Amino acid sequence: DFNVSFDGKDYREIAELSETLNQAATDLGKNEKLQKELIANVSHDLRTPLTMIIAYSEVMRDLPGENTPENVQVVIDEAKRLTNLVNDMLDISKLQAGALEMKLSEFNLTDRIQKVLERYNKLKEQDGYRIDFEYQEEVYVCADEFKIFQVIYNLINNAINYTGSDKRVLVRQLVREQIVRIEVIDSGEGISEENLPYVWDRYYKVDKTHKRAVMGTGLGLSIVKNILELHHAEYGVESILSAGSKFWFELPVIEKEEI
Ligand code: ADP
Repeated sequence: DFNVSFDGKDYREIAELSETLNQAATDLGKNEKLQKELIANVSHDLRTPLTMIIAYSEVMRDLPGENTPENVQVVIDEAKRLTNLVNDMLDISKLQAGALEMKLSEFNLTDRIQKVLERYNKLKEQDGYRIDFEYQEEVYVCADEFKIFQVIYNLINNAINYTGSDKRVLVRQLVREQIVRIEVIDSGEGISEENLPYVWDRYYKVDKTHKRAVMGTGLGLSIVKNILELHHAEYGVESILSAGSKFWFELPVIEKEEI
């Protein structure tokens, strides 16, 4: 038996409690739905390249005539895609679990970008790609170096994947009022205004077809967003369809004597 006296105050408290419980139930429901969607997406994304790898390998085993470099390349591309996916998923889940704590240090951002781009250019020059770096002065920042370079890598990879036939990418460093802004600019296919707000969402891809050799994961920019938000950094994108995109972020500059 339970006895509640329904004077005004009790009633209000019960109404509030019921409202809170309702909200919690809705949130739980949403969470569960998101969780289910995530698992469905992940399994779909993992299964697609695996199916291709198995199918192509079996055909090549059984039909010697099909054992061509093109077919082997499909297997390699799909295996690469699988690696990218697994890496991105691990990054996301680590970011989510908060396991990736911020490891702040002071470093020369300009110098590090330059070295990364040198290496990248060496790797990509045989495919005809070129990344230029424009800057006026060297600046230091206090940030999680590893994560900031994950951001830069993801932005450069996208710029290269989506750039136009000139295969040129420009990384630009601008400094104004103790704020450094890094821009990654390509003159590629661009993103339409209606798709632009969603590119930061997990698993969002403008082009959902499979016409690319190595398909994207749709996770890169959501990792970028996560990391930049951990740094309380400003970031954004400007893009014009068929003209190109500019992805940027900003960090505070710190004073540092040349060592
Ligand atoms: P993906 O692995 O598909 O590249 P991202 O999260 O990095 O995933 O990007 C999400 C989507 O945003 C991409 O699928 C692509 O449609 C679009 N996008 C990202 N960067 C660019 C760019 N530089 N130019 C044109 N579209 C881009």
